[in-house]
Amino acid sequence: MTRADAIASLRDLVGSSRSVVGFTGAGISTESGVPDFRSPGSPWMRNKPIPFEAFLGSVEARREAWRRKFAMDDLYRDAGPSRGHRALAALVADGTMPAIITQNIDGLHQASGVAEEKIVELHGNGTYAACLSCGLRHGLDRIRPRFEATGEPPGCEACGGIVKSATISFGQSMPEQAIRRAQALALGCDLFLVVGSSLVVFPAAAFPALAKRNGARLAIVNREPTDLDAVADLVIHDEIGDVLEPFLSQEGNTRA
Ligand SMILES: [Zn+2]
Repeated sequence: MTRADAIASLRDLVGSSRSVVGFTGAGISTESGVPDFRSPGSPWMRNKPIPFEAFLGSVEARREAWRRKFAMDDLYRDAGPSRGHRALAALVADGTMPAIITQNIDGLHQASGVAEEKIVELHGNGTYAACLSCGLRHGLDRIRPRFEATGEPPGCEACGGIVKSATISFGQSMPEQAIRRAQALALGCDLFLVVGSSLVVFPAAAFPALAKRNGARLAIVNREPTDLDAVADLVIHDEIGDVLEPFLSQEGNTRA
């Protein structure tokens, strides 16, 4: 299948669907300059992750977690939405896509203009922090200068609880509300569109399988093969930005 044929097939699928749910993984953000954290050479692989229990258990672990967090933020400070992010934002804007489920924590769907309530984040969000006790959001722009001045990890201003980057750490339970919303979206769509995920991390990979079992069609756009390629209605192994760029324009996104 040529790239043009692949794009035409995807356009047909999208155009003939009533409700297209997007599902994104690290691959949609590589064009933005955010590397896949599981890929060799990624800064995420240099350090052993700090498990959630360790974070809770010692101030030194929290200090180390915040040091790494801000060092990482500096590496990707200039990352902006890719063509893939913007194409999905266009599908949300024209009503084709009710919501986007994402495994990413980079906040780039929000940055592409998609309203926060239309984004389901399975692994949380690294662009802000939250109190583990009361849930109050804390801005990183306020936490960072204090942390760098004192070396003390942040505590909650409201309740004194432990404040953590709003991501889901190793050993931390998955966000129930996000899981429930993702399930409902998978069951409510007639096209489930995977973009940039190899679908190996569970339970995230369960959602496209659920949609497919429920009768939706499944399309996968990813550079590498995925575990669900065999059951998908359309599989495109290509550069995400190149495949999705036509959906940025009006004629690329005409409903059938
Ligand atoms: Zn609190």
